[in-house]
Amino acid sequence: MIFVLPRLFLGSAADAADPGCLQEAGVTHVLTVDAEKPQNLEAFKTKFVHALDDASTDLLSCLDECVAFVNEVLATDTTAILIHCHSGVSRSVAVVTAYLMKSLQLTFPDAYARLQATKSDVSMNEGFVNQLKLYEAMGCNVDVTSSLYKHYRLQMVMEKYPELQNLPREVFAVDPTSTCQTSLSGEILYRCRKCRRALFRSSSILNHTYGSGPLAFTHKRLSSGEMLGAEGPVKCTSYFIEPVRWMEPTLLGVLDGQLLCPKCSWKLGSFNWYGVRCSCARWVTPAFQIHKNRVDEILPVYIPGLQKGKI
Ligand SMILES: [Zn+2]
Ligand SMILES: [Zn+2]
Repeated sequence: MIFVLPRLFLGSAADAADPGCLQEAGVTHVLTVDAEKPQNLEAFKTKFVHALDDASTDLLSCLDECVAFVNEVLATDTTAILIHCHSGVSRSVAVVTAYLMKSLQLTFPDAYARLQATKSDVSMNEGFVNQLKLYEAMGCNVDVTSSLYKHYRLQMVMEKYPELQNLPREVFAVDPTSTCQTSLSGEILYRCRKCRRALFRSSSILNHTYGSGPLAFTHKRLSSGEMLGAEGPVKCTSYFIEPVRWMEPTLLGVLDGQLLCPKCSWKLGSFNWYGVRCSCARWVTPAFQIHKNRVDEILPVYIPGLQKGKI
């Protein structure tokens, strides 16, 4: 096992299987990021994150809780932690890198280089590299409401459900016509231009940066479809959104197709799990594309007399 920071060690399943050696090093806590729970760790406080060393494994969603666990251990002078996976080269390295990024405010390349300098065989799989770049872009806080995270989750859905059947409900945004919908104040509502059926809210729009490459966890967050390209302002003629509940029957088991208004069947756009090129030349994968000229924006209305606390 390798010393990373005072009272923080990185190791393998073999290290976790040697309680005597761990106790000698002062280890009191073990964080396992592996497919199997280690045995014989009764003398230690443990945390287990089930994860395969596979690009389709979602480590990102567990990073905040792992970092919090390490922080808790290191807050006390008398405790120390081993973070390990099977070989100590990929999964545990990803978690330790995330911890270094967050606690020492290091960039992803700096944190990873620091571990590579300490342990020459560290080699994270490409999926974890992308997830840590995304973690950095989110300011080392997993914000599940951000466009970046929603996009990432959709890409993971493709990896996990290649048949595109039985998709988890949280993949779909709540239908804005639903009576139990609670909207954030200040959200814009988008309605079908033909029949005025409410289709989606502004929080469902997944922004992308202008460009020709694939949308690979871009580091910029943009608030509108207008952006500056190399040749000046570029207009995206579509909204790329997260799937909304009314799309569910259309999307299940199908890779691509048209998106029609659920009320009047007017063609609003299209979807393609493998991606679509936006008018600004950026590939967006997967893509749920609504043409801007098919919807109307309904801005939130403020009636001062109706505001809380005012007459
Ligand atoms: Zn309509
Ligand atoms: Zn665009």
